[in-house]
Amino acid sequence: MTGTDRYPHIFSPLDLGFVRIKNRILMGSMHTGLEEAEGGFERMAAYYAERARGGVGMIITGGFFPNREAGYGSKLGNEDDAAQHRLITAAVHGADAEVKICLQILHTGALAGTDQCVAPSAVKSRIGRFTPNALDEAGIEKQIADFVQCARMAQLAGYDGVEIIGSAGYLISTFLVEKTNLRTDQWGGSWPNRMRFALEVVRRVRAAVGERFMLIFRIAAMDMLDGGLAWDEIVSLAQAVESAGANIISTHFCWHEAPVPTIATMVPRAAFAQVSGRLRRELGIPVITSNRINMPAVAEEVLARGDADLVSMARPMLADPELVNKAAQGREDEINTCIACNQACLDHTFGGRQQVSCLVNPRACNETRLNYLPTPEPKRIAVVGAGPAGLAYATVAAQRGHRVTLIDAAAEIGGQFNLAKRIPGKEEFHETLRYYRRMIALHGIALRLNTRADATALQAEGFDEVVVATGIAPRLPALAGISHPKVVPYIDAILGRRPIGAKVAIMGAGGIGFDVAELISHSGASGALDVAVFAREWGIDFQNHPRGGVTGVLPQTAKAEREIWLMQRKADALGKTLGRTTGWTHRLTLGRRGVHMVAGVDYLAVDDAGLHTLVDGQPRLFAVDTVIVCAGQTPLRRLYDDLLALGVKASLVGGAFEAAELDAKRAIDQASRLAAEV
Ligand code: FAD
Ligand code: NAP
Ligand code: SF4
Repeated sequence: MTGTDRYPHIFSPLDLGFVRIKNRILMGSMHTGLEEAEGGFERMAAYYAERARGGVGMIITGGFFPNREAGYGSKLGNEDDAAQHRLITAAVHGADAEVKICLQILHTGALAGTDQCVAPSAVKSRIGRFTPNALDEAGIEKQIADFVQCARMAQLAGYDGVEIIGSAGYLISTFLVEKTNLRTDQWGGSWPNRMRFALEVVRRVRAAVGERFMLIFRIAAMDMLDGGLAWDEIVSLAQAVESAGANIISTHFCWHEAPVPTIATMVPRAAFAQVSGRLRRELGIPVITSNRINMPAVAEEVLARGDADLVSMARPMLADPELVNKAAQGREDEINTCIACNQACLDHTFGGRQQVSCLVNPRACNETRLNYLPTPEPKRIAVVGAGPAGLAYATVAAQRGHRVTLIDAAAEIGGQFNLAKRIPGKEEFHETLRYYRRMIALHGIALRLNTRADATALQAEGFDEVVVATGIAPRLPALAGISHPKVVPYIDAILGRRPIGAKVAIMGAGGIGFDVAELISHSGASGALDVAVFAREWGIDFQNHPRGGVTGVLPQTAKAEREIWLMQRKADALGKTLGRTTGWTHRLTLGRRGVHMVAGVDYLAVDDAGLHTLVDGQPRLFAVDTVIVCAGQTPLRRLYDDLLALGVKASLVGGAFEAAELDAKRAIDQASRLAAEV
């Protein structure tokens, strides 16, 4: 059975009459930071062209602003701007003439991050930097005219259409919702008045670009706002947008300010597609769904259920530009799956670090800079340690033609990812391990498991290069009573090797401290694997009752069965080092389960009574049964030192190189770059 037989819905073209989309997977819009970078258009051209060659049916670019009020960054407003965009459209159409590319017009309204930002009313967003300037009638007309001009320039630049974003708390959506639109003129008040701005934008863009140009409108099919849009309003908006001239409705979920996770790894796959499905049944034009659809089988199921006509995958296209071709060719096991960590993509965008990439694929957005070219001089390379660093190194080196032997003391590949995958909400880590298992077979890497490497034996084998990726050793702080039976290192806690009591102190509140708190405070099914559990935990009503689809009251998260204190020495609020776009979800979840967060702790001793500390300088005893230590790590370099002592040339990657602040993003990035050079 070929991939196209296995995924009949994905591989059936969508005919809009004047245009044909060759399959049902599109690359959703993602700001990459290249939009504003030096040489960014050349780099975007390479980035999008690689995805076009990878088989996707349609691409939506990252957002471009129609004017300066709309946001800082790259604007498309005149013919000079349009000339730059030709690099992108020519590259994509040159890569595959059948692939369509649409430009997203992004007007961020009150979230624009400039004191010139505009909105229907001067209502500051919870997450905005400035109170927006309320638009007067002339200002509204100017904004609409700028949308139209941007669409005309997109057409001139050779795009196949535009996507107008009418959701997320951006300008258009703030006209729709009562709490951000306090106007009493024709642009506010009644529902027809609040819809007027969206409909005028669509109507006038359609009039300017003619009938043979795609116009996609992105709508919040649930906005997750207390007092947000009611279902009948959403349906009537979508129907009116259809009548005003849109060809496709793209469904979005949530405003950025809503405290509900919609794309993090704790969100079940395709959780929101059912909402798109209900809307689709009310419309005559095709509907796009999105959010946590990361593998072809998930997309096929969504399409087969009739929940959408097209499936948008944005981050999965960063992780693997060839995803669609691999599905078509029955090579799904070669897909490098997006694990929804946000660490190298959205955390960079929202952290102001601009340039986006991908934790599992550091080539993303670096297509002109990082390439794994065939080596002219194949070498025999031993890679010791099959954690993320060793796996990435071995895969890239072998793919380039080197003969690689990968050695690990453990019975399975993965290193610490085998701990991460046990944390509820981190099940996607299994996919990364599946991908690497397949890469090992595909590239003929000789794998030796259950083998502790030793310097003398490695020397005797005469490898040209030895790469030491032996990772880390967990830090055990020098503390009176650190060998007390109630002290448990995090590895033992996660692997269930030691019993955990009813009262627990977790020493250290970095990523691992939070993960351990999640693991031991959790009971029942993982919300990431069960939509009903996820909905209950976050107070989501997928039927959009009441308005917004959220109850507005505290979600019904069960209190933990244990009493848990999560602690750190720093005086800061806990969780500040967690991911920018996901840290808040962990803080909220643990807080709702009743986990105590204690900062400013000096650890003094552990004994039968518990953990003795000073908190803010005051003595305090935590009468706990178990103290789980999550106090960071130190590099494991014994093998490296032994190799150097024998005069064997060796290099270090990953945690073995530097343990402080090491995460898988840095481990994979560093290892891939080194292996690209060897
Ligand atoms: P490791 O993963 O530690 O791998 C080292 C390997 O070397 C091991 O397999 C070990 O068996 C092997 N080895 C050691 N010595 C020898 C020897 N002498 N001979 C043979 N083999 C040897 N990072 C993120 O970016 N995002 C996350 O969400 C995330 N979650 C995490 C959750 C948990 C619970 C944990 C524990 C870690 C998490 N991390 C996360 C951190 C991430 O897993 C590490 O940064 C990463 O695994 C480091 O990779 P590495 O290859 O350097 O080392
Ligand atoms: P970490 O984030 O560096 O946290 C270590 C914790 O230990 C901190 O709370 C630190 O805070 C404390 N600590 C450090 N030295 C100590 C000492 N001598 N005594 C007592 N406490 C000490 O490291 P980690 O939690 O071990 O995680 C390792 C890596 O994996 C990190 O880079 C992390 O980003 C990554 N990771 C990421 C995720 C994710 O979801 N993105 C999840 C897990 C892990 P104080 O010094 O204030 O006490
Ligand atoms: Fe997906 Fe993480 Fe890569 Fe972003 S960084 S695309 S979330 S795997």
